[in-house]
Amino acid sequence: MSVPKNRRYGCWGGNRAGLAEDKDRCVESIWHNHSPGGYGDQCSRKRGYGPNGEFCKQHDPGAIAKKKADCERRWALDRKAEDERWERQAYDRLAGNYCRGIGMSKEQLEAITLDTPTA
Ligand SMILES: [Zn+2]
Repeated sequence: MSVPKNRRYGCWGGNRAGLAEDKDRCVESIWHNHSPGGYGDQCSRKRGYGPNGEFCKQHDPGAIAKKKADCERRWALDRKAEDERWERQAYDRLAGNYCRGIGMSKEQLEAITLDTPTA
């Protein structure tokens, strides 16, 4: 990973030199509506996380990647649960249609269901 030697922050049209990196603070650039060009402002949080300990807890690339992975995992689980729910509904519909097709009443079906040991 290449690290720029002299990071600059807060550069804009009226202050092209900007500010030098504060070695105690996170290296992430923060963009504001009032920072129109060049570079954002240096993150104001204390560094100590991530590669070379140059990031704050929030901007630690590892933490960000983990958060993203957690989010994707949760999404995949939701997705799986949803798929299973649809699958079950499709099955129930088919089973219901079948029972109706062979003329089984709801009462008869319930009687069978109640007689069948679960698990
Ligand atoms: Zn930060």
